Amino acid sequence: MNVLMSKTLVTRLQLVILSLAMLGFASGCATGVGGKATNTAANVLLPAAEEEKLGDQMRGQVRAEFTILDNPEIQGYIRELGAKIVRASGNQPRGISYTFDVIDGNEINAFTTPGGDIYIYTGLIKAAENEAELIGVIAHEVAHVTNRHIAEKLVASYGLQTVLDMALGQNAGTLTQLGATLGAQGYLLKYGRDQESEADRDGLNYMVRAGYDPNGFVTFFKKLEARGGGGIEMLSSHPLPKSRIDQARAIIRKMGNTPDNLGTARLQEMKKKL
Ligand SMILES: [Zn+2]
Repeated sequence: MNVLMSKTLVTRLQLVILSLAMLGFASGCATGVGGKATNTAANVLLPAAEEEKLGDQMRGQVRAEFTILDNPEIQGYIRELGAKIVRASGNQPRGISYTFDVIDGNEINAFTTPGGDIYIYTGLIKAAENEAELIGVIAHEVAHVTNRHIAEKLVASYGLQTVLDMALGQNAGTLTQLGATLGAQGYLLKYGRDQESEADRDGLNYMVRAGYDPNGFVTFFKKLEARGGGGIEMLSSHPLPKSRIDQARAIIRKMGNTPDNLGTARLQEMKKKL
């Protein structure tokens, strides 16, 4: 770590700690900071193992809020795609055990709860034209986990001690409140613009490493934009879709040769079973 980096890290750590000390919560502060320094700060403040424990505490509540699709073949299919992306990401951070589930619902949406629990609506599967479009969303959600965005938002909103207490099952009231927020919003917490950009960028890299055409992410994003962004996790924050599409295209151009596998036939086959 060079001097500049460690200075940035200290400044950002101070910012987060100051926010917590002053307010106990600070949803605005975490939104503006992103990048690897914050990633490190999240690791320091909330170890991945604690995020995983919190996920364990919340899982039952989340599953009670939503209807999990009763279709082992589709569930297995989504888990297979999820596992491909987790492998491509280097299965990080250590301590997180990813899970992938399909929610029976027509919303074109996906969301992630603490501890790497990723939920995909049947509506999203139906809206995708090929596997690359679908796995692009999964890769984006996995990238929120690898970048510790959920940990950052939780700590900024609730304070580190409260999150640690919740992880240990010692703050049932706040845990229930967190679950209710999730139910009301359909996804956990709104990410900031830097976090969305980071998830877009890393997600594109994961899908390419998994052998998929990254343009699937772009075509699906355009589709979401055309339908209107209300309530869709991927479009829940600035920057505006146009600039994110431009950013994704620029990243893909820089990658040079990318796979052209779209997986159209397989997804169409799976959609018939829905
Ligand atoms: Zn996102």
